Amino acid sequence: MEKEKILIVNGDKKVRQSLEKLLKKDYQVFTSPTFKKAFELYKAEHINTVITELNTDETKGIEVITKFQEVRSDIPIIVVTTHNSVPMAVQAMKAGAYDYITTPFNTDELGLVILHAMERKKLQEEVKEGKIYQEMAVTDSLTGLYNRRYFDELLIREEARAKRYPQQFSLLMIDIDDFKKFNDNYGHPSGDNILKTVGQILLRRIRNTDYVARYGGEEFCIIAPHTGKKNASVFAARIMDIIAKEKFTLSDAVQASITVSIGVANFNDDAQTKEELLKKSDDAMYQAKKLGKNRVCLFGTES
Ligand code: GH3
Ligand code: MG
Ligand code: MG
Repeated sequence: MEKEKILIVNGDKKVRQSLEKLLKKDYQVFTSPTFKKAFELYKAEHINTVITELNTDETKGIEVITKFQEVRSDIPIIVVTTHNSVPMAVQAMKAGAYDYITTPFNTDELGLVILHAMERKKLQEEVKEGKIYQEMAVTDSLTGLYNRRYFDELLIREEARAKRYPQQFSLLMIDIDDFKKFNDNYGHPSGDNILKTVGQILLRRIRNTDYVARYGGEEFCIIAPHTGKKNASVFAARIMDIIAKEKFTLSDAVQASITVSIGVANFNDDAQTKEELLKKSDDAMYQAKKLGKNRVCLFGTES
C-alpha cells in the first residue's frame, strides 16, 4: 500500500530534518524551507497532511492556513510552534488548523497528533459518503465516536501537554438518564438508535479541537482543550438542552425524549492527573444524578 504523504514546511533545517527522521518510516515525507515551494508541492502532489510553521518566509500567520485551505479544505494542517507561541497556534486552530505540536518534539505526541488527524479525516470522509462505519481500531462500531481505548490515549496526550505548558482543559462526563427503562420498554434496538443519535448530536456540536468518545454503554466523554471550567459548564448546559429538545424516533415510530446528566472537571483546577480528572468528572456526574438528573454539575460545587 502506498504510504500517506506528509508535507513539512519549516525554515529551520534542524526542525525539517528531525521531523523527516521521525516520520519517514511510516509516511512519504516532502519538505520545504519556503511557503512558495511548499505550496507548489501541495498543489502537485496528493498530500494527506501538512505540518507547517506559521512564520514562513513570505506568508505568515493565519494566511498560511487559509492559503492551503483555499486549494483543499479537507487536508489536516498541523502547526509547529514554540512553547511561547502557543496562543498563536490556538488562533490558527480557530482559523481551521487541525492541531499543533511544539518544539522540541515529543515523539509520542507527534505520532498521536498525526494519527489522530488522519483518522479524523477518514471519519469525515465516511460520514460524507454515507458509509456505515467500519469497525476501526479507534472508533466505537455503534456510534462511530472514538472508543474508550483511543480516548485514553488522547487523554494521555492532553495531560502531557497541560503539564508541560501549563494550560488547562476540561472533561465532560455525560450519562443518559434512566436509559435502562428505554431498553426495557421499547427494546434494545431502540436503545441502540438513541445511542447513535446522541453520538451524532455530540459530534456535530463539538469544536474542531474537542474530542468526543463513547466511554461506556450509555456514557459519553468530551475533552475540551484550552477550556476553563466556566466555559465548559456553558458548553455542557448547551449539550444538555439540545439533547432534551431532540425527538428520538424509536423502532415502532414512537417518539421519545431523553435527558442526560453531565459532570464537569478541569485539569489543573480540580485534578493534576488524568485518573483524578476522570474520577472527579464522574463524581460530579453522580452528584447530578443525586440532585435529580437532567442537570450539569461542576466538581467541587454544591449544585
Ligand atoms: P441512571 O439514570 O442512573 O444513569 O440510570 P440508567 O438506567 O441510565 O443506568 P444503568 O447503569 O442502570 O443502566 C444502563 C443501561 O444501559 C443498562 C444497559 O442495558 C444499557 N446499555 C448499555 N450499553 C448498551 C448498548 O450498547 N445498547 C443498548 N440498547 N443499551 C445499552
Ligand atoms: Mg451509566
Ligand atoms: Mg444512565
